[in-house]
Amino acid sequence: MGHLDIRNLRKVFSDTSGDIVAVDDFNAEFEDGEFVVLVGPSGCGKSTTLRCIAGLENPTDGKIFLDGEDVTDRKPKDRNMAMVFQSYALYPHMTSRENMAFGLKMTTDLSKAEIDERVQDAAEMMGIGDHLDKKPGDLSGGQQQRVALGRAIVREPEVFLMDEPLSNLDAKLRTQMRTELQEIQQDFGVTTVYVTHDQTEAMTMSDRIAVLNDGEIQQLGTPLECYHEPANQFVAGFIGSPSMNFFDVTLDTAGATPTLVHDEFEYELEDDVYADIEGQGTRFTLGIRPEDVKAVPAGTHNAIAPTVDVTEPLGDVSYVYLDVGGEQYTATLEGDIVIESGRSISVQFPQDRIHLFDGETGEALRNRAPPDSDDVEALAGLDDVSGVEIGVN
Ligand code: ATP
Repeated sequence: MGHLDIRNLRKVFSDTSGDIVAVDDFNAEFEDGEFVVLVGPSGCGKSTTLRCIAGLENPTDGKIFLDGEDVTDRKPKDRNMAMVFQSYALYPHMTSRENMAFGLKMTTDLSKAEIDERVQDAAEMMGIGDHLDKKPGDLSGGQQQRVALGRAIVREPEVFLMDEPLSNLDAKLRTQMRTELQEIQQDFGVTTVYVTHDQTEAMTMSDRIAVLNDGEIQQLGTPLECYHEPANQFVAGFIGSPSMNFFDVTLDTAGATPTLVHDEFEYELEDDVYADIEGQGTRFTLGIRPEDVKAVPAGTHNAIAPTVDVTEPLGDVSYVYLDVGGEQYTATLEGDIVIESGRSISVQFPQDRIHLFDGETGEALRNRAPPDSDDVEALAGLDDVSGVEIGVN
């Protein structure tokens, strides 16, 4: 079991220049076997939260429960959690085998034979069985990270805590290790709290993401919830690459149709969209994801005609950077569309794709609804596959 319950966690660092609130009222429950990623910009409090869970920092306030037991004041070694660090934190004078066995020797009364067996099994699983007698200095970054992971695995903890464990690896190895880590986590079913500032890792690896900013949780949800139904403008802008486009607009209800007015364009609202912001003031932020910006014939209703700054063709899609009133915005268009810089293009923000945020607080007032999963399954023929293998083991 590895059910984590974190209640009102707060951590304040004090130094001569004053107080730094690194974590502010963090409340979350992580289910047994769940893979939760803490993501957010540098300095938002991810590592401090993780270190409080591990027992490496004393919380200023709040409690941490593991399987219903209050572990807030327990030493790290008495929490049955194993931590993997960005720097690997291996002992340079010990072999891989000694590094992996060290924690077990210090904190358990397992026999030497039992420890050897666990280390050997974990090493085989991590593909480093041939490197057990080498020291860290003779291993590549990826191999060192496997030893560090193996050292966590042999402890058979209830919780894995991982602090940016892949960020010292090159892009290719990082992608490979990402998949391996997910497989290991699923095989072991160990609750995992994983810190990263990389939203791609957050989206691809996690069961749920906790998006942090300024020490506070902005949203705790599945990757697709955070993507399609962001709680606020911060989450909308942080999750997704390229980022969502945002336009400051004012609501004008003087005419026949409620209209959002931007310095460079006007956007008439349909009734159901207006209903979501009616009575909520006049200042809003209109959000549209780059892939939802649509190229349309000139003169289409609600279309705008920005100038193209530059096109980045990626093959499958092109990122087209648009100039609207001196600000740059992104449209992800089909890969065979390459538009010369300086030309004008007609684009539209489809009404069922836009997001609207409160102009003062950033709170989401309307989100683009995620595709209805029943519709997707029906479209993919998945409601009619009885007895048919569709490549899923
Ligand atoms: P990064 O992605 O850059 O590692 P992070 O989200 O993990 O950032 P933390 O390392 O948790 O952020 O830091 C949160 C805040 O607390 C920052 O403002 C940081 O400067 C501050 N902080 C962290 N550790 C200490 C410390 N030991 N003493 C003083 N301030 C600290």
